[in-house]
Amino acid sequence: MVSEVLCYFSSMRTTIAAALLLAASHALAQPSAPVAPPKAIVLRAARMFDGTSDSVIQHGAVVVQGNRIVAAGASVAIPADAQVIDLGDVTLLPGLIDAHVHLTEQSGENYYLNYFQDLMRQPAEQALLATTFARKTIDAGFTTVRNVGASDYIDVGLRNAINNGWIVGPRMLVAVHAISATGGHGDGDPIPPSKGIPSLGPIDGVCNGPSECRAAVRYQIKYGADVIKFMPSGGVLSLSDPVDAPELSQEEMNAIVEEAHHWGRKVAAHCHGDAAAKMAVMAGVDSIEHGSFIKPDTLELMREKGVYLVPTLMAGPPPIAAKAKSAMAARDIMFRAAIKTGVKIAFGTDAAVYPHGLNGHEFVLLTGLGMPPAATLHSATTVAAALLGVDDRATLTTGKLADIIAVPGNPLDDIKVMERVAFVMKDGVVVKGAK
Ligand SMILES: [Zn+2]
Repeated sequence: MVSEVLCYFSSMRTTIAAALLLAASHALAQPSAPVAPPKAIVLRAARMFDGTSDSVIQHGAVVVQGNRIVAAGASVAIPADAQVIDLGDVTLLPGLIDAHVHLTEQSGENYYLNYFQDLMRQPAEQALLATTFARKTIDAGFTTVRNVGASDYIDVGLRNAINNGWIVGPRMLVAVHAISATGGHGDGDPIPPSKGIPSLGPIDGVCNGPSECRAAVRYQIKYGADVIKFMPSGGVLSLSDPVDAPELSQEEMNAIVEEAHHWGRKVAAHCHGDAAAKMAVMAGVDSIEHGSFIKPDTLELMREKGVYLVPTLMAGPPPIAAKAKSAMAARDIMFRAAIKTGVKIAFGTDAAVYPHGLNGHEFVLLTGLGMPPAATLHSATTVAAALLGVDDRATLTTGKLADIIAVPGNPLDDIKVMERVAFVMKDGVVVKGAK
């Protein structure tokens, strides 16, 4: 019976595929009317940071045709019929990348009220709320985000809605559920089982033992994950787990990373503790998120193995105060050591822990702890793009996607201007600023 059903579905699939092919061949056979190429748009500005060096170019211009950059620099030929947008005393930059966000939620001032409201909200309602977070994020200049953990598949829905053009938002790489041990940072809160809330399993990202860990990875990919996120250590925002202890065994971490890599997915590890970070690095992880308690020798190991640090300095004080304070003091020390070590630092903010749209403040925090301004701009463009595995964006150069922003003044003189993004173009379409 089971095999009959499977046969039925696979033959259905074959039929659908054949129909689609037929439709496509018809479309090809139709004589198509000549389509005029879209009119070029030229963005002019007093300055430009194109992402290929540490300096700004005076009198920058970017020529956009369709959704691509076709020319950029201080002296480019302006096509005769182009629409020229002169943005004045601003600096053009590549659209920014935030490698650590949660666009599907947001913590409020009152933790307990927020917790209750989240619990009672329908997934559809939460998804509609998430569209407002997506809008705030792109308006802040972030045209690509890596969404590292969500519930109810809202991240998948949001990504698809943006890709379909139903709503305006950043390009999203999503992780679906973060993968965690039972009782770990990704598991539900310790609400007594008698209250009727079911415990979570591999489909929800909660797993024990290497084989369940592999199943958890496969489930997330099945339902749309572009990237895998897992929880080697405890969290600052969860109630039942210590912040710095490893929560998965080495065998479990190896299984998660190996399985994800088999499927061509990169792996992000939420990690505050040093021991857990070391284990995640040994498992072959691509990035360590937060990293509050990481010691210099582990940072050195990360540098050697090319593992990125995503420091999320914006993740501010939550209600679980003692845990938060010790994590934040340690994190500042860790971050200064990371700069010294030369580990690759990708920009990420943990948006949702603070109100969406304030992502740009991370630049101020990064420079405040000694990272040079140009290095922070690279961390949110080329470095983050390399971590995400996307090479079609993040510089203002010929052939790249036309994701372009502008900030007033010069960010290399005053990094605070990164909090005041004045203009955003995504995929060749102006979504904020001059029309
Ligand atoms: Zn996070």
